[in-house]
Amino acid sequence: MESQSANKKTSVLVVDDDPDIRKILNYALRGGGFGVIEAFDGADAFKKFHEEDVDIIISDIMMPGINGLELCKMIKNEETPKKVYFILLSAKGESNDKVVGLELGADEYIPKPFELQEVVARVKTGERIIKLQYTLENSARYYEALAFTDELTKLYNRRFFNEILRKEFANAKRYRHPLSIILLDIDRFKLFNDKYGHPTGDVVLQTVAGVLKGTIKRECDIVARYGGEEFSIILTNTEKNSSIELAEMVRVAVENTKADTDYGKLSVTISLGVGIMEETFSVNTPDELFAQADEALLMAKQTGRNKVCCYGQETDKL
Ligand code: GH3
Ligand code: MG
Ligand code: MG
Repeated sequence: MESQSANKKTSVLVVDDDPDIRKILNYALRGGGFGVIEAFDGADAFKKFHEEDVDIIISDIMMPGINGLELCKMIKNEETPKKVYFILLSAKGESNDKVVGLELGADEYIPKPFELQEVVARVKTGERIIKLQYTLENSARYYEALAFTDELTKLYNRRFFNEILRKEFANAKRYRHPLSIILLDIDRFKLFNDKYGHPTGDVVLQTVAGVLKGTIKRECDIVARYGGEEFSIILTNTEKNSSIELAEMVRVAVENTKADTDYGKLSVTISLGVGIMEETFSVNTPDELFAQADEALLMAKQTGRNKVCCYGQETDKL
């Protein structure tokens, strides 16, 4: 069910030691549009549950070996539980099983003898519930991503950047790892807007974002759109020289990439400031580290643009 797609058949694992009951349930559920897998006892079911893509389990309680209650417990108590809707079937006179089963995490309980129509209806209820759960999860994930993503460039936004910076700063301090920030700002960006209009400015922003994504490839590094035409990068566990080299690579990559606009291919350049916490670890807060990068960026702007400056040292084009 992890890869639930809109048109995938919901699959039901039918567990019963009685082959006749399996056959009847299989027939009825297939008739109801479900995919069906059969297992003859708890152990067989547990194995198939892990081998196959199972959405719903419908299990007898009384079975030799691992019974239905034990199966339910094993599946619901797994360390990384696979999502499944668990229906227990129980013979008359085992009414205490209902309480036990539901306490173990079963989602539904159907007493035997059952009516086939009722079983199919309950399985359909289960199907609706799991589909709803997936929809909710997906939309929660969607909104979570939305809250951390910049709409225009699809990079992380400032909020996410700040959150990660705080975490990475604490880690770097604790384990005495170097941590760098690169701040970069498009040169004379206002001219693109003034000359060609806002939509063309947006294409320029997207082009720079694309270059950043293509250049900063380590999973652990974070690239964000910090503001209008400013971007920020967190480089974890990266020494000063490597950070400056990477900043320079980014600068060159942007310089060599033309923004493909309605007004033709336009050249873009950026200025970059690098802030680093290493060796002495005298930087005390994430804000201080950020301010270093900001100051270096300002220096790059003031001393000619299209260049990299590092806090405490100016580096001409390397
Ligand atoms: P400098 O080289 O000193 O950085 O000059 P600049 O023109 O790049 O800097 P300035 O801060 O004067 O201009 C930034 C402009 O970015 C102003 C603002 O209207 C524009 N801007 C901010 N966000 C967006 C956006 O999402 N899309 C577009 N098209 N423009 C934006
Ligand atoms: Mg600018
Ligand atoms: Mg700016």
